[in-house]
Amino acid sequence: MQALGLGSAKSTKTETVANGASPSDQAAPSVIQKPVEPLAKIPASKRINVLEEYAKRSMGKPLTTICIIGHVDSGKSTIVGHLMYQLGEINHRTMHKYERDSQKIGKGSFAFAWVMDETEEERARGITMDIATNGFETEHHKFTVLDAPGHRDFIPNMISGTAQADAAVLVADATTGSFEAGFDAHGQTKEHALLARSLGVQQLVIAVNKLDAMNWDQARFEEIVQRLTAFLVQAGFRKNKLTFVPVSGLTGENLTSRSTMAELTAWYKGPSLLEAIDAFETPTRLVDRPFRMGVTDFFKGGIGSSGGVSVAGSIDSGHLQVGEQVMVVPGNEIGAVKAMQVNDEVVNWGVAGDSILMTLSNLDILNLSNGCVLCSPQHPVPVTSSFIAQIVVFDIKVPITSGFSVVLHHQSADEPAIISKLLMTLDKSTGEMIKKNPRHLSKGATAKVRINMPLRPIPLETFKDNKNLGRVMLRREGETVAAGIVTEVT
Ligand code: GDP
Repeated sequence: MQALGLGSAKSTKTETVANGASPSDQAAPSVIQKPVEPLAKIPASKRINVLEEYAKRSMGKPLTTICIIGHVDSGKSTIVGHLMYQLGEINHRTMHKYERDSQKIGKGSFAFAWVMDETEEERARGITMDIATNGFETEHHKFTVLDAPGHRDFIPNMISGTAQADAAVLVADATTGSFEAGFDAHGQTKEHALLARSLGVQQLVIAVNKLDAMNWDQARFEEIVQRLTAFLVQAGFRKNKLTFVPVSGLTGENLTSRSTMAELTAWYKGPSLLEAIDAFETPTRLVDRPFRMGVTDFFKGGIGSSGGVSVAGSIDSGHLQVGEQVMVVPGNEIGAVKAMQVNDEVVNWGVAGDSILMTLSNLDILNLSNGCVLCSPQHPVPVTSSFIAQIVVFDIKVPITSGFSVVLHHQSADEPAIISKLLMTLDKSTGEMIKKNPRHLSKGATAKVRINMPLRPIPLETFKDNKNLGRVMLRREGETVAAGIVTEVT
C-alpha cells in the first residue's frame, strides 16, 4: 500500500462491540444469552473439516478472482468474450446466437462483448453496466472474471467488483486519439487504475488493445507502455508487477496463444495475454480467521427450486459449510445456510477467496441490505458510525476541508458521510507525519482523517484485521475524491 504511505505506518486496533442488536436481544436482560454455536444444528458426523478439505483442494488449482478495468469501449468485453471462446468456454451455437442477435440491432462487432454483457439494456447500449461473472481455467489457476463497467456513471459498480479482485487486467485502447481520450483528464484509465490500487490490487496486466487497427505498430505500443508505466508507478504499483501485452480482442491475436504473425513477432517475444494472467500470484487467504462475507447481491428464492433468500459475494475471511449459521450485520439476524454454489457448481463448503452464491433459510429478505456483511454469530463484525482512515486524495478541484461531505463507498454499499476532522498529513513513502491538524488537503496528499456517518452505522473493520472490510472510497458529485484504509474503528 505504498500509495497510501503505509510502508511504516502503524495502525491501532480497537475492539468494538457490534451494536444494532435486534429487539429480542434487548428485551429480556435477565436471560443470559449464550453465544450461538454456528455448527450446532449439524450432526457431528455430518460436519465437514473445511480446512482439511481446503488443503486437499489447494493441491489442485487455486481460485483467483480478476477484474477487467479500463475506459468505456476500450474492448474489455470483447477481449474476455474472445478469450473464453478460444478456451472453449463458449460453444459455437451460443456464439452464433450472439452474432445473430447483435446483427439484428445493427451492432455486429459487439458479438464477443455479448458473452459478458448480459442484460437487455446493456445489449441495446453496448455498455457493460454491472459486474458480470464468468470463469475459465488455465494451467495454474481457476479464474473468476469480473468484467467491470467502464462508463463513468457506473464507477460504484466497478468499486464493488474491484473490491473482490485479487488482480486486474487493465485494457487500453491503442488507436490514435482513443488512448489519449482514455488516459487524459476525464478518461477512466487513470481513475480505474488508481481505484484498483487503492482497493488493494497489486498485480496488473495491461492489455494494449486494438493494435490490429494500428498495423501492429511497435512505436505506438512502446509509447503507451512508457506513459502508463510512469503513471502506474506513481500510483503505487511496483514496476515488476506490471506486464504489458500487445493484443487484438477483435481478431483474437495474442490472447490465448503467442502470436505467430510476422508483424508482431518482429518486435514482440513476450507472453500471450493468457500466459501473463496465468502468472498472477494467488494472495494468501485468511482462512483461519472468523467468517466474514460482504454481500454484493441478494434476492428472493433459493438455488434450484428451494425457498429462502439467496445472497452473493466473496468470502473475505474464514470458511463456511452448509447447515452452518450466519449473522447478518447490521441487524444481527441469524440465518442458516441451506445450499451453496461456487462458480456455478453446487458445493457444501467455501473458504476465503471463493465467490459464493448461497441460500439462507429462517431469514427475511428485509433483513438484508446493500453492503451488509454476513459473519460468524460468535465473532460479529463491529458496526460503527465513526472511524479513522488513512486516505490518498485524488485529482480534485476543490481542496478537502473539515466538514467536507462525501458519499462513502464500502464494499458494495454507499452511505452519506462527512470528513469531520483532518488529523494529519503523512509522507507517502515513509508514512511519517508531516503536519498535524492541516487546514485542507489538496490533490495527491496522503492523510489521516476522521469520518462520520450521520445517518446509518456500517459494518467495518480495520485494514489490518480484514483487507476487504477495511477499505473505503470517498466520492462526491460523481467523482472519486479519495480512497483509503480504515486504521481505527471507534
Ligand atoms: P468495453 O466497453 O471496454 O467492454 O468495449 P467493447 O468490448 O464493447 O468494445 C468496444 C468496441 O471496440 C466494439 O465495437 C468492438 O468491436 C471494438 N473492438 C474491441 N476490441 C477491438 C480490437 O482489438 N480491434 C478493433 N479494431 N476493434 C475492437
